[in-house]
Amino acid sequence: MDTKSSSAHESYLVLGAGCFGASTAYHLKQTLPASSVTLLDRGPFPNPSAAGHDLNKIIRADYQDIFYMKLALEAQQYWRRDPIYRPYYHESGMLYAEDKGMARANLDNLNAVGEKHHAEILTPEETRAKFDGGEADRALESVISAAVKEGVIYNSSGVSTLCIDESAICTGVRTEDGAELKANRVILCTGAWTPKLLLDTAPHNKALHIGDRMVAAGAIQCTASYPPDQMYKFKSMPVMFNGCDHTEGECIPPTPQKMLKFNYEVSFTNKEFHDGSGQTISVPPARLDQSTWSQAVPQGLKKDEIHTVVDHVFGKWIDGIKIEDYRICWDAVTPNQDFIIDRHPNCKNLYFAGAGSFHSWKFLPTLGKYVLDMLQGTLDAEKASRWAWDRPNQGSALPAYVPRRDLKEIPGYEDVAKHFK
Ligand SMILES: Cc1cc2nc3c(=O)[nH]c(=O)nc-3n(C[C@H](O)[C@H](O)[C@H](O)COP(=O)(O)OP(=O)(O)OC[C@H]3O[C@@H](n4cnc5c(N)ncnc54)[C@H](O)[C@@H]3O)c2cc1C
Repeated sequence: MDTKSSSAHESYLVLGAGCFGASTAYHLKQTLPASSVTLLDRGPFPNPSAAGHDLNKIIRADYQDIFYMKLALEAQQYWRRDPIYRPYYHESGMLYAEDKGMARANLDNLNAVGEKHHAEILTPEETRAKFDGGEADRALESVISAAVKEGVIYNSSGVSTLCIDESAICTGVRTEDGAELKANRVILCTGAWTPKLLLDTAPHNKALHIGDRMVAAGAIQCTASYPPDQMYKFKSMPVMFNGCDHTEGECIPPTPQKMLKFNYEVSFTNKEFHDGSGQTISVPPARLDQSTWSQAVPQGLKKDEIHTVVDHVFGKWIDGIKIEDYRICWDAVTPNQDFIIDRHPNCKNLYFAGAGSFHSWKFLPTLGKYVLDMLQGTLDAEKASRWAWDRPNQGSALPAYVPRRDLKEIPGYEDVAKHFK
């Protein structure tokens, strides 16, 4: 696959309209307008179960890994300038309250890459003096709409299995309503649902499976309201990040919907037995209220975890904060949090773009560009080796979010689960 003119016969199925899929469909159609690009997801876009569907997200470049810092600085240029993203981007600043040296390391990296910045280390007193004081789903919708405007076909069908012939060539997909869609190339952008989709497709073909390359992991978040008379306190509020032993999580300033959002960083798996393959893998629960905003969340996540972030970020400073809704958000995490953007080595015409590892939202404008480079064989050597299907998994881009327990071990799980039966 090569140039704009020679791509008329090329057809692409992009499965999953989250961060990776939306960006991939957009860049594919924009760069290869003569090709046919179909983007599939389960229902209208943006899908509320997608990790990329959210009240708001943090777009920051302060990585301790310079590789991602440079990529995030590149993505930020699009967030600032491109009309697809700009309306949904607000530069609030970010405050790290932590005692692990992360802020110092980030500041050193910013200086090392020669970025002009306003970052500084402040004492608690200086911080108080300085700060007196969502829109993620709409940005996702904006990029999918832009892709459709470019000519991408959006198909609101879930995919039940991939179609793979006897010669190990992926020829298309079978949808949940039984239709078969064919294409020259199939790109899997199905996030946390990817390991199960491969097991459903070929339960006994281990060469196709994900294995331990990525694991589906959930993290708890909540939205909270506050009395209108306290609004002035958020006027110049930055993103507040707590990285202390007693609190691991962050708060994102109010969106135009006037809601605060909190994340708690200790993630978990949801291990289930897969009948067809006889394997136990982590999968997002099938019930929709286990991946969208809901009250059906174990008490342990509510009371002992996300509540600590709410209490410790604001203490008594804001009167009357009220948690409104909870959500378990599911993402695919690799052992070292590098993404996977590669072809499948054991199945021709099948490609991967995903494993966001709880930090890929900010790259929404640029992910599709890297996927296109991978498809064309022009991805630079460092990215190709870091995002390879098989790799040594050295280093750690964002270790905090690696799952450390299972959903079923969380206090109160049984009380929620009994309503499922
Ligand atoms: C709590 C939380 C907070 C986060 N905060 C940030 C942040 O502040 N900043 C940041 O940069 N990143 C953040 N992230 C990470 C980021 O949101 C994810 O890495 C990113 O959204 C993953 O994109 P994706 O396209 O791989 O998956 P998703 O966005 O989950 O999209 C996958 C899509 O595939 C679809 N799909 C799955 N299976 C099928 C099927 N069989 N048929 C059809 N469609 C299917 C799903 O419906 C979904 O729409 C956060 C993640 C979480 C969970």
